[in-house]
Amino acid sequence: MTYQVTVKPSGHTFWAEENETVLDAGLRQGVALPYGCRGGMCGSCAATILSGQVHYPFGEPQGLTPAEMENGKALLCMAAALSHLEIDSPQVGAEPDIEVKTLPVRVEKMRKLAADVMELTLKLPASERLRFLAGQYVDILLKDGKQRGFSLANSPLDDSFLELHIRHVPGGFFTSHVFNEMKEKALLRIRGPLGSFYIHESERPIILIGGGTGFAPLKGMLEQMMAQGLEKPVHLYWGVRAKPDLYMDSVVRSWVSRHPRLTYVPVLSEPQPQDNWQGRTGWVHEAVAADFPDLSAYDVYMSGPPPMINAAKKAFLAQGLAEAHLYYDSFEYSPDTLKAMQEDKA
Ligand SMILES: Cc1cc2nc3c(=O)[nH]c(=O)nc-3n(C[C@H](O)[C@H](O)[C@H](O)COP(=O)(O)OP(=O)(O)OC[C@H]3O[C@@H](n4cnc5c(N)ncnc54)[C@H](O)[C@@H]3O)c2cc1C
Repeated sequence: MTYQVTVKPSGHTFWAEENETVLDAGLRQGVALPYGCRGGMCGSCAATILSGQVHYPFGEPQGLTPAEMENGKALLCMAAALSHLEIDSPQVGAEPDIEVKTLPVRVEKMRKLAADVMELTLKLPASERLRFLAGQYVDILLKDGKQRGFSLANSPLDDSFLELHIRHVPGGFFTSHVFNEMKEKALLRIRGPLGSFYIHESERPIILIGGGTGFAPLKGMLEQMMAQGLEKPVHLYWGVRAKPDLYMDSVVRSWVSRHPRLTYVPVLSEPQPQDNWQGRTGWVHEAVAADFPDLSAYDVYMSGPPPMINAAKKAFLAQGLAEAHLYYDSFEYSPDTLKAMQEDKA
């Protein structure tokens, strides 16, 4: 069966087969539905079902509470239509129209930024440019249809190369390859730009929160905002375990010295004696919550590990942040890994 999906308030319509996710159907037909992990975890693709019915033939999403489901919320990356649908997804239509390309890239440079973080500088073919918005990500395409998402750490103002900050995940298929085998000049295939994590036009002051390599997309955003003059207050919080994990601390401090509207608060969760750390400690989202008891006037952008994102979402919404002003990329594992992990558990 094929069902019609109508998106409100934009009025876009598309058709969904019963054996595909609503997200896949929309993207296939050029409707820019928002999404992040594509594995039912991060919640970026959440929409409200205004009429009709969906189900989850590919597994129940972990990123929705039973109460949210009861209130009609669905995660479109996992949901399939059981009838014609009317869905509420306010971001659709507000998305800029940027072509998603699949391109070969060459690893121009590899630089170890910390014990478990590698910077990759990727060079595009001479005749190609990748149009993207600061903060978006690309998928690295591997064999057997596998893909791994990594945020773009540079701004599109200099798009002759792409910069990635890759954390080594112990036992991880691709990141172990990067750390143990990959050499400069290696060839990769990428697909992008992807995702809706980029700066949205607004007059409101901004809080940026990065956990670990969650700093990467924020770096791209900041480079772009600084190039445009940084006219409103921007507060950057960067949470890591110990001091060496602040792998671009001196770069950020040099930005702060040149941009009076930019503030920077590094937060260590496990400072080591040799760090001789006098700064903030604990979880980065708790530092933000303590410094901004009322978040109702802010736009918040955060990226990093899923536990940080989930805890921060809860804390910030309780402190007055409007859901519409919270933007995030949750660094989930790839859909194939999440699926394999779920199958192993079952
Ligand atoms: C939008 C987005 C942007 C991102 N940006 C960044 C970024 O800028 N920088 C960054 O460092 N990361 C980023 N990530 C996270 C990054 O994509 C993952 O860390 C990466 O996919 C890991 O790939 P891998 O092949 O090394 O690990 P995988 O092979 O996917 O394995 C991940 C973990 O799962 C375990 N595992 C795998 N299979 C199983 C199984 N069957 N049972 C049990 N355990 C299993 C592995 O041992 C390992 O610990 C981003 C993620 C998203 C979604």
